[in-house]
Amino acid sequence: MLVRRIDLHTHSTFSDGTLDPEALVRHACEKGLSAIALTDHDTCQGAEYAVRAGREYGLRVIRGCELSATSEMGELHILGLWMPEEGAEMRQVLKDLQQRRMRRNERMIERLCSLGLPLSLNEVRACAGCGTVGRPHIARVLFRKGYVTSVRQAFERYIGQGKPAFVPRDSISPEEAVRFLFSCGATVSLAHPFLYRYPPDWLFASIKKLIPCGLDAIEAWHSEQSERETDELVSWAKKLGLGLSGGSDFHGQNKPGIKLGSGRGNLCLGFDILEALESRRRGKGLPV
Ligand code: AMP
Ligand code: ZN
Ligand code: FE
Ligand code: FE
Repeated sequence: MLVRRIDLHTHSTFSDGTLDPEALVRHACEKGLSAIALTDHDTCQGAEYAVRAGREYGLRVIRGCELSATSEMGELHILGLWMPEEGAEMRQVLKDLQQRRMRRNERMIERLCSLGLPLSLNEVRACAGCGTVGRPHIARVLFRKGYVTSVRQAFERYIGQGKPAFVPRDSISPEEAVRFLFSCGATVSLAHPFLYRYPPDWLFASIKKLIPCGLDAIEAWHSEQSERETDELVSWAKKLGLGLSGGSDFHGQNKPGIKLGSGRGNLCLGFDILEALESRRRGKGLPV
């Protein structure tokens, strides 16, 4: 029997992915996927293009986004799946996140300039094109200008956490991010919970605290999560009554080792994951 596969965590040129939404949809069709969620960082603007392309190519596309929140331990990423079309309030919150990012980018650029690597915000903006601007774009400009031999080296020498031009994120708290996405009517899922290697007890307690704010799922399958970690997250979800989401976190050439749908080669997400999330939404009277 043909197994229908999905990917509920992907990035496009509207943030730091390298395929535009239409090319991403075409790529998903080539990969034989049945559904994807576009989850660009701090924006939903690519969704309309992806949804339109999905209609054309016969691929189910879920409008999503991934918010970078700041907890007392550091970053936590929160996924909103089934985001509505952008209304005024939603636009304002996302615009505020973009502005905070831009101020951080400016500060990192200032530091790079004072380290003897002149570059401008305009160059970084031009590199990002139409979407959310972040460190991967700064890294690419550093590479293009010949200051580093690779994007990776840009992170290792200058803009990775704790490096001389790194500036910590000024963002909303995980509680605020979850509440906001919930208020939009999205299914809210904690992205790649084990990525940052926070103590498991702290992580579990934090997940528990986010449930009253509207957290509805955890991302149990992700390219950077081991099978053992997936099992752990599935058991946490069961204990807490949460749903499960999964995705590769595909970024195109910005993360060349990660393939759409299959991640590092061993991801295989069945359509039943999507159906289970949909059924939770229906149970709450939310549209799918
Ligand atoms: P930002 O949201 O601006 O802080 O950028 C975060 C993004 O930078 C992540 O989503 C990764 O895609 C990328 N990134 C972070 N650390 C590294 C690294 N060491 N090498 C390459 N890319 C990285
Ligand atoms: Zn990213
Ligand atoms: Fe993330
Ligand atoms: Fe992501």
